[in-house]
Amino acid sequence: MNVHEYQAKELMRAQGISVLRGGVATTPDEAVKVAEKLGGKIWVVKAQIHAGGRGKGGGVKLAKSLDEVKKLAGEILGMTLVTHQTGPEGKKVLKILIEEGCDIDKEYYVGIVLDRSIGKFVMMASSEGGVEIEKVAHENPEKIIKSIIDPAAGYTAAAGRKLGFGIGLRGEQLTKANKFFEGLYNMFMKNDCSIAEINPLVTTKSGDVIALDAKLNFDDNALFRHPEIEALRDPSEESAQELEAGKYGLSYISLDGNIGCLVNGAGLAMGTLDIIKLFGGNPANFLDVGGGANKETVEKAFSIILQDKNVKAILVNIFGGIMKCDIIAEGVIAAAKSLGVQVPLVVRLEGTNVALGKKMLNESGLKIIAADDLADAAKKVVAAAGGK
Ligand code: ADP
Ligand code: MG
Repeated sequence: MNVHEYQAKELMRAQGISVLRGGVATTPDEAVKVAEKLGGKIWVVKAQIHAGGRGKGGGVKLAKSLDEVKKLAGEILGMTLVTHQTGPEGKKVLKILIEEGCDIDKEYYVGIVLDRSIGKFVMMASSEGGVEIEKVAHENPEKIIKSIIDPAAGYTAAAGRKLGFGIGLRGEQLTKANKFFEGLYNMFMKNDCSIAEINPLVTTKSGDVIALDAKLNFDDNALFRHPEIEALRDPSEESAQELEAGKYGLSYISLDGNIGCLVNGAGLAMGTLDIIKLFGGNPANFLDVGGGANKETVEKAFSIILQDKNVKAILVNIFGGIMKCDIIAEGVIAAAKSLGVQVPLVVRLEGTNVALGKKMLNESGLKIIAADDLADAAKKVVAAAGGK
């Protein structure tokens, strides 16, 4: 789960990590009130969406008067912000953060991720902050300094010093950066984060070390023990279909292709996406109906797939183990009838009660394209969706 920058900064502030003062607003008048309360002469108006690259897209602007705060707030609120992370459709800005302006000396990068292959955390820092870190990793990998932190041993000053020294900090700034890194690591652990990214971390002309941006991602499997973080969820940032699917115990992720996929089991679903790609098609979604699906969940799954207007064909790929093929066939037939499925339906069934399931589909009167195996199913659905 992701949160907004202003929420991430509140969590960091609570841990004693240095962030700038600011407040959130949903109207230009509210923005002016926040700026007045902050005082000072320079403010930054920042679009709050769950995506990076806002600055480049026009979602982060400097204001030098309260009038300008009002004007910029009016421009940014309601705009559809397109960044390299939002996709071409962009995201509508519903909230802004008004923050005190910072006298930046230099921009850096610091982040933490879990490296599952070694079961430890990797803390990274770079002197090339403010830009896309992926680009730095690609073009100048030596400019990313890494420290591995063993969760059993916890943060060490040596790990922090390696990062701070590696990005060129010295003296008091090195001490401050180390304190910052330690706070960030503790906040990360306490809240069960899976990613923390501060880009940029800045040094100021007055010698401070401050987070100007903050992106936090939380481990969904640990959210049950953090109701206060679950409460930060912003439904407007999540796909309506994904939220609805979650309510029915379906694992659904929207993708940008045109072939709807209804599959049981996450592994088979991944394999299905791969083989569709192999035959030149593009999946519209990942959908795992799970092992215990029944007629109702299959029907629900269909209705969620069909809400995506890009879907030109659907592939039902089921291996009947715990779930029997006749139950799936029953769900497919019920859904096709009640929802009036118009797009071609390719069905590949295998496993328990497969003969009965196929018979039910054949006798249903529905225009179903039967497939014998996975490759056959993928070829047929790619062709049905209009080819490559
Ligand atoms: P994004 O990464 O989504 O573009 P950032 O929060 O990193 O958004 O802001 C983009 C840039 O705007 C930063 O790299 C920094 O140069 C500048 N910036 C952001 N917040 C402030 C601030 N409070 N004061 C001064 N400059 C800022
Ligand atoms: Mg940033």
